[in-house]
Formats: sequence, structure tokens, C-alpha cells
Amino acid sequence: MQVLIVDDSSLVRKSLARIIDELGHIAFTVASGKEAIDYCMKQEPDLMLIDVEMPGLSGIETTHRVRTLSCGKWFPIIFLSGNMKPDTYYKAIEAGGDDYITKPIDSIIIKAKLLAMSRIAEMRRELKLANEKLHDLAHHDHLTGITNRLGFVERFDMEWQRAKREKKPLSIIMLDIDHFKQFNDHYGHGAGDDCLAKVAGAMEKKIQPLGNCLARYGGEEFVVTLADTEVEEAVKVSEELLDVVRSLNIKHEYSSAANVVTISVGIATQNQDEAFDNAQTLLKAADDKLYQAKELGRNQCQF
Ligand code: GH3
Ligand code: MG
Ligand code: MG
Ligand code: MG
Repeated sequence: MQVLIVDDSSLVRKSLARIIDELGHIAFTVASGKEAIDYCMKQEPDLMLIDVEMPGLSGIETTHRVRTLSCGKWFPIIFLSGNMKPDTYYKAIEAGGDDYITKPIDSIIIKAKLLAMSRIAEMRRELKLANEKLHDLAHHDHLTGITNRLGFVERFDMEWQRAKREKKPLSIIMLDIDHFKQFNDHYGHGAGDDCLAKVAGAMEKKIQPLGNCLARYGGEEFVVTLADTEVEEAVKVSEELLDVVRSLNIKHEYSSAANVVTISVGIATQNQDEAFDNAQTLLKAADDKLYQAKELGRNQCQF
């Protein structure tokens, strides 16, 4: 384990570091709460041992702040103190500490605590990975692998707020596969699934490198969030998407729009000229344009 030692006494730092090194772990030492926070912002230790009483930020205050850092939630923190008052003990645990050792330091006690904490650190690591995986699953569509509706809602909300704050344009592209019911009816649901995955994959290749977000909105409908993008640029992107889907050359004999699978596209842009009341009305405007593209014969974009 990489163990961060925080103590204003150089004597304590040295003797703790020696014990930790002897136990086969790697010790890093700092002399103040501020240095500990700076350290944790740069790298996450596997364990932190921290003195309660220090000039400047106390150990309790430091722990409290470390726990609010995004990287400071997952590693165990053990307090070291000559102060055995139950009240201090409680405050230390309340601030985010996991255990409390009294000074003078006994190397066997440190050894035992490190053993227990390395188990906790391992469990936390596993929990963190499981959480990340769960988050990923919750935000991605199983069939196509792209962002799902929940992922879109969160991203769109963030981009909407940012566009308002920074007074930047924001474009939304809604698109839908043409005559997909016919496709399913004639080629089968399995072929329909393959088609969806291919269409999504090809569009994602265009959208992702630009740092924008393509999401499956539902069924055979997709949505693209284009941050800091004016309508002219959104039209260009849409034309590219129309092209990329047509170029897949997926046969569709039962479409009135073409003899291959195509999409219809609607665009709406929030900018200096056009201010929407809220994110939902911007989305609705893109959807209305998509409907128009369908009405006008499909395989095209409207803005
Ligand atoms: P339009 O050109 O007007 O969009 O016509 P459409 O047939 O594409 O639209 P409609 O809404 O009538 O039908 C959508 C079809 O998409 C019906 C549904 O079965 C199919 N679909 C939705 N999700 C999936 C999916 O995950 N897999 C497959 N294979 N089909 C799906
Ligand atoms: Mg001290
Ligand atoms: Mg459709
Ligand atoms: Mg549809």
C-alpha cells in the first residue's frame, strides 16, 4: 500500500515511515493538513495516517476536506493522537476517519491496523470498480453500445446549463430510421437489431471524435447534442450522418425513401436569434423538424 503520513512532528513522521517501510509498504510524509490535501488532489493514497492536533488545519478538518474531494472518498483514514477524549474520537470518525490509534505508537498495533485497513482498501477498490461499471451500464444502451436515454438527459441538461451560462449556441439533432417497421416486418427482428447496431456504430464514429454525444433516444430514434454549434455546422453534421447511413448500403426494398436504409433528421438550435424557454422546448423543436422531414419524403434533414 502507498501510505500517506500527516504529522507536524518530524520525529513521528520518521518513526512511522520506518515502521511502514519495514512492513513492506511505501510511506510518503507531509507535515501539514494543507500539504495532505494537495497530495490527495494529485494522487490517491491507499491509506492515510493523520495526526489530530496540528498547527493550521487540524487532522479532523483536513479529513473533512479530503472526503469532499472526488478522489478522497475511497481510501481509509486512521487518526493518530495522544488525545483519548471520547468527544475527539467521535469527531474524528464523524469527519470521515475509519479508525483511531493512540500515541505513543506501538509498531505491532500499527501492523495490525494496516492489515485490517488493507482489507478495507481492497473492498473499497472492488466497490469503486463495481460502481463505475454500474454507472457505465446505466448510461449505455445494451444493443448499440452508445449512450442511452438517461445518459443523454444528463448530458443535455449539462450542455443546456453551460450554453446559457457561457452564452454559446447549442444544437440538437433528432433522427429516426425510415420505415423501420417495414424493415423488421420483412427482414426479421434480428436483422433489425443488426441494422440498428450498424447505424449507431457508423454515426458514433462521426460524432465521437468531435467530442459530441450521440444517444439512442428510444426504439430507432437517436439524438445528437452539439455543444457550441451554430445551425450551419449542425446542418453539415446532419448531412454527414445522412451520408454515412446511406453508405452502409443496407438493403431496404420496402422503403419509399430509397432502396437502402436511410434516416430523417430534424435540427433545432438555441442561439442569439432564437431563445427557447427551456431544454424541453428545444428538444421539441428538433422533434417537430424531424416530423417535417418525414412528411417531406424522408431521407433528408430539416432545420
Ligand atoms: P418512419 O419512417 O415514419 O419512422 O416509420 P417507421 O416504420 O420507422 O416508424 P414506426 O414508429 O412505425 O416503427 C418503428 C419500428 O421500430 C417499430 C419497432 O418494432 C422498431 N423497433 C424499435 N426498437 C427496436 C429494436 O430495438 N429492435 C428492432 N429490431 N426493432 C425496433
Ligand atoms: Mg501534532
Ligand atoms: Mg422510424
Ligand atoms: Mg420512430
